[in-house]
Amino acid sequence: GNVLIGGGTGFVGKHLRTALQNKNYGFTIVSRMPGPQHISWNQLNNAGLPKDTVAVVNLAGQNVMDFKQRWSPGFKQNVVSSRVNTTASLAKAINDASVKPKAFVTMSGVGIYKPDCNLEYTECSKTEPFDFFSKLVLEWEKATSLDSLSKNHCRVISIRSGVVLGKDGGMIKQLYFPFFLGLGGPVGDGKQFMPWIHIDDLVKLIIFAIENDKVEGVLNGVAPNPCTNKEFSIAFAKALRRPAYIPTPKLVFNVILGKERAKMITEGQKVLPERTQEVGFKFQYPTVESACENIVKSI
Ligand code: NDP
Repeated sequence: GNVLIGGGTGFVGKHLRTALQNKNYGFTIVSRMPGPQHISWNQLNNAGLPKDTVAVVNLAGQNVMDFKQRWSPGFKQNVVSSRVNTTASLAKAINDASVKPKAFVTMSGVGIYKPDCNLEYTECSKTEPFDFFSKLVLEWEKATSLDSLSKNHCRVISIRSGVVLGKDGGMIKQLYFPFFLGLGGPVGDGKQFMPWIHIDDLVKLIIFAIENDKVEGVLNGVAPNPCTNKEFSIAFAKALRRPAYIPTPKLVFNVILGKERAKMITEGQKVLPERTQEVGFKFQYPTVESACENIVKSI
């Protein structure tokens, strides 16, 4: 069978494609750029799902943590539309298809849970909009047409992912150099939680959601041992055999990123993968120490 991957050219997409190929799946990417095995979003809107699509995954999204981009109204609009509109286009193509894929797996984020030092969140926690990112996640998940699609016999799964840890993308790529120089450290006092998941576990979870007929709805894509920002800094520095003494004041991120966006790293929430484990998913990297060791070894 063939898996259609929106935004499959990115960090998660690259790892997902390799894993799918190893399991003898084919794939087609929906991308803004032409390329081998690519279709454009226009083509998707006009011609619908490619033949033999057994599953659809959406990974598209303008990179929020692009330090070169100012947190302007235009950029924020891009951040939203690159996620919500792409998800809606894929949902529509599935709805219009005469033969439905088995599953529609989309990424979303833990930003739906309000940062808090005490509360523990699971997939069943009540959600409501309280800031930019929570509103974004709610819109993003709504665009999957969760209810109507399920009635059409295509399972819909939203993975609320924490920071994805992998050597060649996301946060580790940005932090590698300062930490390698021994200049790494926590953000502020580092007491804020930092929900995270190893890239291999995230990819396994996406494929698990595709293949497991009983899995549907929201899954928290976070490791079962939550850590704080400081615990992550210590684990990553230790794996690199470097110190991690130098904290970066939150103010620095507020200035560079804008306060609203900086919240993603200056604040955090304690999130547990309760449903993810209930449905039988097993994490290969349950602790941040094991994840960091593995990542540093493979660099
Ligand atoms: P990437 O930053 O690697 O981007 C994925 C793809 O999105 C890109 O390759 C690009 O594909 C497409 N894209 C970028 N901007 C736009 C745009 N304006 N309009 C349409 N498509 C666009 O993301 P990741 O692989 O790291 O993450 C995948 C998804 O998971 C994202 O939606 C992200 O928000 C979410 N996520 C990621 C986390 C992380 O730590 N990495 C944590 C939690 C959630 P192309 O250029 O081919 O069009």
